[in-house]
Amino acid sequence: MDSNIFDLIKKANDTTLNRHGNLITLERAVFLSWWCDKGDCAFCYMSTQKNKIKDPTKARRNIYNIYAEAEMCKRLDWNIEFLSGGYESFSTQEIKEIATTIKDITGDGVWLNTGITDELGEYGSEIKGITGAVEVANPEIHERVCPSKKLDDISNMLDTADDLGFKKAITIILGLGETLEDVDYIIDYIKDHKIDRVIFYSLNPHKETIYANSSQPASLYYAQVVAQVRLAFPDIEIICGTWIDNLANIGILILSGANGITKFPLFKMFATKYGKRVEEEVKWAGRELKGTFTDKSQLGPEKSEVSPDLDKFIKRYVKESLKNKY
Ligand code: SF4
Repeated sequence: MDSNIFDLIKKANDTTLNRHGNLITLERAVFLSWWCDKGDCAFCYMSTQKNKIKDPTKARRNIYNIYAEAEMCKRLDWNIEFLSGGYESFSTQEIKEIATTIKDITGDGVWLNTGITDELGEYGSEIKGITGAVEVANPEIHERVCPSKKLDDISNMLDTADDLGFKKAITIILGLGETLEDVDYIIDYIKDHKIDRVIFYSLNPHKETIYANSSQPASLYYAQVVAQVRLAFPDIEIICGTWIDNLANIGILILSGANGITKFPLFKMFATKYGKRVEEEVKWAGRELKGTFTDKSQLGPEKSEVSPDLDKFIKRYVKESLKNKY
């Protein structure tokens, strides 16, 4: 461990405050479907489910439920991290239409994380940016861990996204066997593909995968990776995922350069001791949270303010948020 980790984090924190101010966003990935046509990434829960779903179109979420989720994000001032999933379940035109409607609801363009495609040219101003699910911070491990998501295909898509004027994001999961030395690879990748936004996750070891008995990455390892990336790129956006069993990571990740935090079951945690804990972590990192994880008055009415078609779903989200499950 670098004995100067405190210096590193201090520098990263100063840089972040300087360039980005003190606001921290809550990011929510909105899923379009529960189907994945690859289904062979070694760490992924979906890889354990593939054989259980026969027809990808059946794994589509109800479209009104997706819009209701967007409406709730707007009410609570949570950002939509990206639209996720959807391959084989929705056509490009359908994804475009969903993104357009979500933009109408939230007032903000949508990031996509809907797999490798060569149809980016069909998208327009409803899309803010394209996410490449790089996942692994080491290209050799990538081959083994994500055999069907070829790095070259992801890189080509991101370069096309750049040509078309979209912003570019990548996702990286820490804890898949990479080491601190691989930070150089992440830094080169960000530089080579002009990445605007990096989303880090920490391994969530799922049963029935080869990582079932692996440990999640240490908080100070995660922090060091984030701090190095922040110092290499003062202006990019960095989002850090921590699962509900790792909330203590949030403070240190914010100090290391995170602009936003993600990967929570937001409605389940809302206004519970866990939602409060997230707000405490943000506060003690000296930041202000955009949106709320606790204020029940922000949940709003049980009816949709967008369309009556969404009413029953809005009602369900409000009810779920008011129920204390813990
Ligand atoms: S990580 Fe993505 S592509 Fe890989 S199996 Fe999971 S859902 Fe499918």
